[in-house]
Amino acid sequence: MNGEVVNETVKGNDEPPLSSEPPAAEATALSVSCALPRPAQNPKWSDWRWQIRNRIRSFQELTDFFPSLRSQTGIAKVAEKYPMAITPYYASLIRSADLSDPIFLMSVPQGQELFAPEFLHADPLEEEEDMPVPGLVHRYRDRALLMATTMCSMYCRHCTRKRVAGYQESSISVQQLNDIVTYLKAHPEIKDVIISGGDPLTMATSLLERILMAVRSVPSVEIIRLGTRVPVVLPQRITNELTQMLAKYHPVWVNTHFNHPNEVTPESQAACARLANAGIPLGNQSVLLKGVNDSPQVMEELCRALVRSRVRPYYLFQCDLVRGVEHLRTPLSRGIEIMEYLRGRLSGLAIPTFVVDTPHGGGKIPILPNYIVSMSPSHTVLRNYEGMIVNYPEPVVRETHGRANNCGKSHTPGVWELSAGHSSVIAPSGAARQKRRAGRKNHRAEDVATHPEFSSLLQSILSESGG
Ligand code: SF4
Repeated sequence: MNGEVVNETVKGNDEPPLSSEPPAAEATALSVSCALPRPAQNPKWSDWRWQIRNRIRSFQELTDFFPSLRSQTGIAKVAEKYPMAITPYYASLIRSADLSDPIFLMSVPQGQELFAPEFLHADPLEEEEDMPVPGLVHRYRDRALLMATTMCSMYCRHCTRKRVAGYQESSISVQQLNDIVTYLKAHPEIKDVIISGGDPLTMATSLLERILMAVRSVPSVEIIRLGTRVPVVLPQRITNELTQMLAKYHPVWVNTHFNHPNEVTPESQAACARLANAGIPLGNQSVLLKGVNDSPQVMEELCRALVRSRVRPYYLFQCDLVRGVEHLRTPLSRGIEIMEYLRGRLSGLAIPTFVVDTPHGGGKIPILPNYIVSMSPSHTVLRNYEGMIVNYPEPVVRETHGRANNCGKSHTPGVWELSAGHSSVIAPSGAARQKRRAGRKNHRAEDVATHPEFSSLLQSILSESGG
């Protein structure tokens, strides 16, 4: 893919400066009427390439769709800093061009994106730090994330990769892909490769196939996942040609990104059905966003609609600490409240796991309401979703013979060793803090060895204390 660029739009460096003050006034003033675009009578509407070519990319194009936004010139300023692209299809889902509309909030730039308090970062998950070769993030032992392109059909205002998405719409080069394959072959512990971006399904089918073929050439890779928002914002792209190509590289999974029930339309449901009919299991990763889906009832409706569309709600992400999205972030307690509401109302199949992807590359941490009231060696007291408190007796026959056979695999110490009194601590080996401690211990030992006065002092202390 050297020189094979899907579509190139290079942004200049004349970006407006970030601000440490939230410019709230303009955002709240964005309550305007709109002239809704109509897809009917357009023979090209279902052509995904037409949708991409006709994305709303400038303030001028936006106001052609929504003339009532003409006075909101701040939108143009924000779009210079963080690119805007909205497919005509996704724009047609906007029912009211103001902040009350979830589709508007997720797609149209707002002045508050320039609010940049210190705790926000361009790359809060430190993906660049966990990139052993350009374009591949290797954080968890058995998984790696391949960033295939920087292009998306729609630039979500809440994007975690705002630092790359849309600045220069291009796909990885042949050299990068070769380096990635070399790395994967040298790391057989990686069983699961997630192809992401940007959005990999914006790539031409033949380019995407080259990437899939390259990843499949690595014998130790068991599953391939695609992370994409295309079924939501550009469902026309899920063609039979695409699904037939994907099916050649099974097991292939797709994780998509619906955030609001208004995104679940006949078109997006048909796109999901085409993927599912090609034998591709579908999961959904939502992001919890203020004013969009931070309501238990909205999340319930979304999860029900997803399951009806054969999409399993997989994760509900707390919004990352990424620069440009502070105005959409919710308190953690809001997510816990939503999870509390969903449990008992929906089947476990329809309930996502609420997670915080921690800063500094700490990875995902699941957050749950607390259902354990108390624990003792003989009983655990639990609370159910209704508030009923129930006693759960622990086994009378204690674990005297250890746990299940490890089938010849090396033994991993678990909490059982602690509760049985065989050990007092289990610490992760190789953690930075442990390494520092070990380093200091060695250093102290060296000090004692190389300074005879310390050695004799230590001996006298030990003899006094009977040691
Ligand atoms: S589709 Fe994904 S990568 Fe692209 S802008 Fe939206 S969230 Fe970011």
